[in-house]
Amino acid sequence: MAIPEPRNRYQIMILYPITGFAPVARNSEIGYYPGMRQLIVGNWKMNGLKAESLARASEFRAFAEAEKPACDLLVCPPATLVEAVAKALAGSAIAVGGQDCHTEDKGAFTGDIAAAMVGDLGCRYVIVGHSERRRDHGENDTRVGAKATAAHRAGLMAIVCLGESAAERDAGRAETVVAAQLEGSWPQGGSPANTVVAYEPVWAIGTGRTPTVAEIAAIHGLMRTLIVARLGSDGHAVRLLYGGSVGPRNAAEILAIPNVDGALVGGASLKIEDFAAIARSCQAR
Ligand code: PEP
Repeated sequence: MAIPEPRNRYQIMILYPITGFAPVARNSEIGYYPGMRQLIVGNWKMNGLKAESLARASEFRAFAEAEKPACDLLVCPPATLVEAVAKALAGSAIAVGGQDCHTEDKGAFTGDIAAAMVGDLGCRYVIVGHSERRRDHGENDTRVGAKATAAHRAGLMAIVCLGESAAERDAGRAETVVAAQLEGSWPQGGSPANTVVAYEPVWAIGTGRTPTVAEIAAIHGLMRTLIVARLGSDGHAVRLLYGGSVGPRNAAEILAIPNVDGALVGGASLKIEDFAAIARSCQAR
């Protein structure tokens, strides 16, 4: 389905309440979709108890209010803290997301969380298919796609993660693996308004190692081509994030790469100085 063309800022807000940007002609020369702000996502993983997490949330809020960075900000706390952090950030420019959801809407799934429950806590986004979930919980592409579809049913933006292992990159298979994961994990009805893709090479997560600029550019260009092949010109408006050892030292270089529309940040999102430095590195668009 083609995205309708909004006529003014008010219509943009109605038609694109999540992405907040309108579909306009892409300028392939500049390597990004005009008007699409970069998105910086802090994945707090399984870190922090209530007091320190709320203290961090209040530092993040103060930073966003003082500096109004030129990007969209999202934090994904552990499930136990999502509601408290969402309340602490309510009315701020920082959105809150979950780190996972189930494929089903309800039922006998002890210990799991349905997408609607994530939304009920105040979230607008949910991460699905993070490599730590794929590794530790045996999640394959089909399951990840089903989780993203479940997120959509609950009105959430799904952040679909994928990326090759070290062995796959060393074997020269990174592009083949990413293409297969993208095809296999892409949710039914995926669109710029409900899906973000995060390329996270497994070997770069939490290791301090990152692909070269050329390697990131190649994978992001490939993902863009595949999504445009699937969605037509709407595919230019799907945000593509890079994740894996992003920090203050490399954020500006990574965020300047064509088709990098933001970053998914793990370790460096636990410290306000690092998260703020990454947000300050965003490209104003
Ligand atoms: C992540 O877990 O998604 C991640 C990118 O972690 P880190 O930034 O610590 O490499």
